[in-house]
Amino acid sequence: MHLLIMGAPGSGKGTCAVELKNHYSIPHISTGDIFRKAISDKTTTGLLAQSYIDKGQLVPDEITNQIVKERLSEKDCQKGFLLDGFPRNLEQAKALSNILNELNIKLDAAINLEIEDKIVEERIVNRRICSKCGRGYNIISLKPKIEGICDVCGGSLYQRKDDTKETIEERLHIYNNQTKPIITYYNELGILVSVNSNQTPQKVIEDIINQVNSNDNI
Ligand code: ADP
Ligand code: ZN
Repeated sequence: MHLLIMGAPGSGKGTCAVELKNHYSIPHISTGDIFRKAISDKTTTGLLAQSYIDKGQLVPDEITNQIVKERLSEKDCQKGFLLDGFPRNLEQAKALSNILNELNIKLDAAINLEIEDKIVEERIVNRRICSKCGRGYNIISLKPKIEGICDVCGGSLYQRKDDTKETIEERLHIYNNQTKPIITYYNELGILVSVNSNQTPQKVIEDIINQVNSNDNI
C-alpha cells in the first residue's frame, strides 16, 4: 500500500501515521522527522534546513525533493510506504509524480485530514511527542498517564522547538496558501480520501482505513 497523508500542522498526521504504519506494515516516511534527525546529526542538510524550520518556513524544494527521492528509492519502499509531510506545495506534488513514475510505483491514496485553524493552534502549543516511538500527546486533551512519560514505550516526552505561537501562524499561513491547492491535484487524480480530523484519534484512523479500503482505485 503506497499512501500519503496531508493536513495542517497539528491536524494529527503524526498520530495517524504511527497507527497506519503498523496497520499496513509499511515504512513511515516523514520529511519533518528526516529534517529533525539531520539537524541533531548536524549534517549539511540539517544546518541548511534548520534556519527555515525554526522560522516555520518551508525548506527549499530542491533540497526536500532530493531527500524524498533518495528515501523512496530505497528497497523497503517498493512494497509500500506512508509519506507524511510531503508534498507541501504543487511543485513538490509534481516532483513526487515524476519520482513515482521513475520508480514504477502507483500511489494508492492521498489522505487529507480536515480541521479548522482555531483547533489546530490550540493543539500545537499543547503538543508533546515521545522521543522514542514518536507518539503524540496533548497536555490538555490527550494527557499521558504519568506526566512527561509515554504510556506505550516509557520514552520521555518533548516539545518541538517550532511548536510556538509565533511559528504556528506562519505554518498555518503556508499551509492554507501553498499546501491546500494540492488537495485539488489529488482529487483530480481520483485518489483523494478526506477525513474529518476533529474526532478521537481512534475514529479518525477507523474512517481512514474504511475509506482507503473501499477506494475503487485500489
Ligand atoms: P508539521 O506538519 O506539524 O508542521 P512537520 O514535522 O511535517 O510538522 O514539519 C516541520 C517543518 O519541517 C516544517 O515546518 C518545514 O519547515 C519542514 N518541512 C517538512 N516537510 C517539508 C516539505 N515537504 N517541504 C518543505 N519543508 C518541509
Ligand atoms: Zn513512546
